Amino acid sequence: MKDSCFNEFDPNALSVKDALSKIISSTKIKKSYECVKLKDSYKRVLAKDIKANKNIPNYKNSAMDGFAVNLSDTSKKDFIFNCIGESFAGHPFMGKVRANEAIKVMTGALVPDSCNAVIMKEMVTEKDNLIFIKSKIAKNQNIRFPGEDIKKNDLVLSKGKEIDEIDIGILASLGESNVYVYAKPVIGFFSTGDELISVGKEISKSQVYDSNRYLLHGLLQKYPVKVKDYGVVKDNMSSITNKLNLASSECDVLLTTGGVSVGDADYIRDALSKIGKINFWKISVKPGRPLAYGKINKCLFFGLPGNPVSVVVTFNLFVDAAIKKISGQIVNNKLSLVAKLENDIRKRKGRKEYKRGVLTVNKGNLFVKCLTSQGSNILSSLKNANCYIELDEVIDKVCKGTYVKTIPFVLESKHYD
Ligand code: AMP
Ligand code: MG
Repeated sequence: MKDSCFNEFDPNALSVKDALSKIISSTKIKKSYECVKLKDSYKRVLAKDIKANKNIPNYKNSAMDGFAVNLSDTSKKDFIFNCIGESFAGHPFMGKVRANEAIKVMTGALVPDSCNAVIMKEMVTEKDNLIFIKSKIAKNQNIRFPGEDIKKNDLVLSKGKEIDEIDIGILASLGESNVYVYAKPVIGFFSTGDELISVGKEISKSQVYDSNRYLLHGLLQKYPVKVKDYGVVKDNMSSITNKLNLASSECDVLLTTGGVSVGDADYIRDALSKIGKINFWKISVKPGRPLAYGKINKCLFFGLPGNPVSVVVTFNLFVDAAIKKISGQIVNNKLSLVAKLENDIRKRKGRKEYKRGVLTVNKGNLFVKCLTSQGSNILSSLKNANCYIELDEVIDKVCKGTYVKTIPFVLESKHYD
């Protein structure tokens, strides 16, 4: 069959699953790594496993402001202890605490070995050097033990983890001042199209502002990558091949938008096969069917479609996985949630569709509304959405009330309730 984008059941188009596995298997981790300061490690990818070099907490300490006691009989309900000193956080009590003796302790202060319970300040009556407690005392109450949080030699963080604020806190609590992270891969992009004009310039009829480069610039911000913007390239074979040659020599991954379909001004596919290798061209997905994936020398190449919504969807579905893998991250499935559909949906059989929807929570139940504007040129459909509704190839209509699979963009509701 002639290559085209006409037939919904296109035998030359890969399924989303097969396309993803081809992308993941042909993408290699960029192995080089660097040592960065802890504060600079946020959102970078760990290049080495982190094992605990010590217990956390590091010493037996108090969970309360109160009194640490050396208790010999736990069956009683009435106690008198002789208070012989005090222990502050950073200023431990160095003496011995014998049976029926106590010391005053602050939260986080060292609890001497011989003390086996801490009593809250509020439960104690003090007179001279004596303290009185009129309640049961459980052994070890209000004491934090060494290794309670993290045990020495435990695997704390695994290689491939994107470091978040909690990880930074954990690394700091282990005393790590530097972290080994994978080097940032370089991701380049350019737009193609004779109709494109850059922002800030006067626009005439038949021209379109180049929004894709700005979309890609924004989409790439959340990854640990260096971004290179190669501007706009005209729809002609030599300009496109020249730019592909230059950019692929400087980048680990190169993305282009537009010019990848079957129009007379679509040169990306031919240019890629001329100077590199095409792995696949079409995916059975909507939006985003024409997508040229391959390599130019060592550089991974994604020729994304021109329509802005298709750019975002194909980026989320495919480019995301390649960037994660090349930057050393573990590629996980996206979180999906099942929600009850609030309106009817129609689609044509043949392609997997990612419709834009609005996910809401009502009394603990999830509902999703499919937005009416679904054109791949309607970028505002993405603005108004907070999830994709994923619909399989074989489906042609889904009725209101059916449970459907959704992929949330962020884990926040559109409403405050
Ligand atoms: P193409 O895939 O080149 O045929 O482009 C498909 C549609 O997307 C056309 O309407 C283009 O004008 C539009 N388009 C292509 N590139 C861009 C871009 N960088 N910014 C905004 N629209 C674009
Ligand atoms: Mg074009």
